[in-house]
Amino acid sequence: MIETLDQTNIQTLKGIGPALATKLARIGIITLQDVLFHLPLRYEDRTKLTPIHAAQPGTNIVIQGKVVSCDLVFGRRRSLLAKIQDSSGTIALRFFHFSKAQQNILLNAPVVRCIGEVRRGSAGFEIYHPEYSTKLKALDKTLTPIYPVTEGINQTRFRSLVNAVITLMDDGKVLQNLGAQYPELNKFDINSALRLVHHPTPDIAIDALLDGNHPAQQRLCFEELLAHHTSMRLLRQKCLKLLAPQFCPPGTAYETTRKNLGFKLTNAQARVAAEINLDMQKPSPMLRLLQGDVGSGKTVIALLASTHAAENNYQTAIMAPTEILAEQHYINFSNWLRPLGITTGWLTGKIKGKKRQAQIDQIKHGEVAVVIGTHALFQKEVNFSNLGLMIIDEQHKFGVEQRLALRQKGESDGRLPHQLVMTATPIPRTLTMSIYADMDCSIIDELPPGRSPITTSVLSDIRREEVIQHIELACQNKAQAYWVCTLIEESETLQCQAAESTAEQLGSLLPSLNIGLIHGRMKATEKSAVMQSFKQGKIDLLVATTVIEVGVDVPNASLMVIENPERLGLAQLHQLRGRIGRGSNKSFCILLYHPPLSDISRQRLQVMRQTQDGFLIAEKDLEIRGPGDLLGTRQSGSLQFRLADLLRDSHMLPKIRTLADHMLKNDKTTAYAIMNRWLSSAEALSLI
Ligand code: ADP
Ligand code: MG
Repeated sequence: MIETLDQTNIQTLKGIGPALATKLARIGIITLQDVLFHLPLRYEDRTKLTPIHAAQPGTNIVIQGKVVSCDLVFGRRRSLLAKIQDSSGTIALRFFHFSKAQQNILLNAPVVRCIGEVRRGSAGFEIYHPEYSTKLKALDKTLTPIYPVTEGINQTRFRSLVNAVITLMDDGKVLQNLGAQYPELNKFDINSALRLVHHPTPDIAIDALLDGNHPAQQRLCFEELLAHHTSMRLLRQKCLKLLAPQFCPPGTAYETTRKNLGFKLTNAQARVAAEINLDMQKPSPMLRLLQGDVGSGKTVIALLASTHAAENNYQTAIMAPTEILAEQHYINFSNWLRPLGITTGWLTGKIKGKKRQAQIDQIKHGEVAVVIGTHALFQKEVNFSNLGLMIIDEQHKFGVEQRLALRQKGESDGRLPHQLVMTATPIPRTLTMSIYADMDCSIIDELPPGRSPITTSVLSDIRREEVIQHIELACQNKAQAYWVCTLIEESETLQCQAAESTAEQLGSLLPSLNIGLIHGRMKATEKSAVMQSFKQGKIDLLVATTVIEVGVDVPNASLMVIENPERLGLAQLHQLRGRIGRGSNKSFCILLYHPPLSDISRQRLQVMRQTQDGFLIAEKDLEIRGPGDLLGTRQSGSLQFRLADLLRDSHMLPKIRTLADHMLKNDKTTAYAIMNRWLSSAEALSLI
């Protein structure tokens, strides 16, 4: 018997057993209400057929035609390549996972309808793994929601789950319109709003829905942002009541580290370092967000803070998003700290067996003072002896949940280590105050001196050969270069393959250069060997995937070629480009696009050419793109909301702050009920 949607487990639905429930739990779905709040990531317009000749790369289309050939092709990877034709033209369908039966079905069907994204491939325009059917139904009448799903649950399965819950709503099992006394929450009934976003009706404005501007969506966004903001505020209140180790003012080790840096801190660095010093001398935990553009020198701030902790006999844990970055930090930190007798250790997925156990034991017994690692640091088996400081580097690569989980890990007996969170995501200050309402904020708004600006050019890949020659010449003159393959960003495997073949090709074209290759699918030990050789100057040209996007610091590298930059977000391009321009050499970045470029892509790449200022790039991106490119913003970092888009919805923030104030003072019940709806269990847990 179903009581209320928020109390009813999904296993009460027909066809959902423990196995599926476990998978759903992985994406935070436990109750029927959770299904409703698992909102579409975006919509696809499957309401009309596109003539094949009008297919444009990068767009999702529905096509319909006859399969005229269907052959196995043996390239780098075996695939099934089908050609499908309508009265206007032909396009290729490519499958990497397929069966003989599938080949027969495709070939024999009088007509096949396919849905998928058009891309450029070796056979011209191609659609990889289209959804297809041979029994044609009427076209969809409304936009098709696309959900964030997990392995073992596909779109169709999830849609039927949503349908089942909506049927229950039809039977009168509805959600309470929480906070109906507040005008913003009363503009649109929550039930109608949810129904509309899951099942848009044909009469509603498609454009508004695609842009996320429909009143139903806006109503939900408001509630989501409110939930988030309230939770951050509560966390902060809770934190201020906790105790933390109270450090003495910085002493000799700190001063020595600072002197040994080999450079003078910039004014901004000095200011931030001082803020952190003061924070850690207080009895309550520091919670500080450090924002600073790529290359602004955040690492040394982390170094100084960990020295400060070590002087006070406390351990520091530093978490980095990639193994490459963790290892780089480990090498740098141990070089800096060894002379002071401060021990460093590291722990990532690649450290296994006895070595791992030994490292874990040392951490437990406090034999290492500064521990650097990836997520591996925060597994159950890892326990610190006396953790005094936690630093998260490149926080935009982690989700809010991870941040909160980490905070919990650090808490013991009502004490919390100090926390420093570092990020390069350029977001305006007003937004920062809302998303990170649980933290104080410091900004490094100045680059270290002596950097010459990066000259960025935007070139068509017709000029690839010229670019290759340019690289050859530069490398012969002792420069080092990155060649970044971004071709197929959605698939790591394909991206790695692209990098492999590029490295092969460049290797045969440039026999005089030492060419290295690095990508995410390589073994960790191989990756680190390659990074070391590059750092030591043994590799001239490093062909890479976007794995080098964060943190990598090889100051001698002064050239970067980015292939297909039009496929990346500007924030990501900015991060990538930030790998060069770190030394005193004049640096060049070549954005090698594949024509034709759309107007918007052209404008966006021009922005990259015109400025190196992360904040400006973010603003321009918004201006050009316009709000509402849901996927685009979602990909750009830690702002992982279900529906809200901080940039698009920023006008709501002042009202949200006021309402959160009011609710936390006068109406905690509603505040908690709203948080409970929107925050996943992990986040909600940390509020209790
Ligand atoms: P990010 O903020 O992107 O993490 P890093 O900490 O990697 O930047 O610093 C980029 C480079 O600048 C490093 O090689 C670092 O040693 C150097 N650097 C940092 N601070 C200064 C400074 N004050 N003067 C000169 N070089 C600096
Ligand atoms: Mg960094």
